[in-house]
Amino acid sequence: MSFQLPKLNYDYNALEPYIDATTMEIHYTKHHGGYTNNLNAAIEGTSLSELPIEEILKDISKHSAAVRNNGGGFYNHNLFWEIMGPNGGGMPSGELLKAIEKTFGSFQEFKDKFSNAAATRFGSGWAWLIMQNGSLKVFSTPNQDNPLMDVAEQKGFPILGLDVWEHAYYLKYQNRRPEYINNFWNVINWKAVEEKYMIGLK
Ligand code: MN
Repeated sequence: MSFQLPKLNYDYNALEPYIDATTMEIHYTKHHGGYTNNLNAAIEGTSLSELPIEEILKDISKHSAAVRNNGGGFYNHNLFWEIMGPNGGGMPSGELLKAIEKTFGSFQEFKDKFSNAAATRFGSGWAWLIMQNGSLKVFSTPNQDNPLMDVAEQKGFPILGLDVWEHAYYLKYQNRRPEYINNFWNVINWKAVEEKYMIGLK
């Protein structure tokens, strides 16, 4: 058994003008494709090849750096493509909006907090909105780490993630990470995030 690069549910140009088609194509085929291939190579012939990715990540401290980096990269990008889409943006609704308002005060305050986590992550990494014991929390991780890993500073179930590696934005935005972060809000598929929230509540 090996992990497969998931099908992208939209075209490379679907997130224009916020995320350009060339960045999408390289990011998906080369970066995500690379993490997938390297993860498979790292677990080939070991007992890890029988496990779902979540099970591998939860004991990541026991595994090699190759499994940590590529397993994280595989999972994180699966989530990233899912929580974005054409005609995205706006705000969440229903239970998720209520939980955001209860936790952060308002959607705007949540947005500021998440954007700040993404902007202040030094070097490469991810900003996250996670569910931790039923509550929402915002934080960031370095490299391809994520909140499912036992090594994460904050652990939980991720429902929204933003890739702030330079490969995610440099072609279009160069060093202007804050502009990329600001535009990310226009491509979020809140329905997908809400579905993850409902899964996390169970
Ligand atoms: Mn990436």
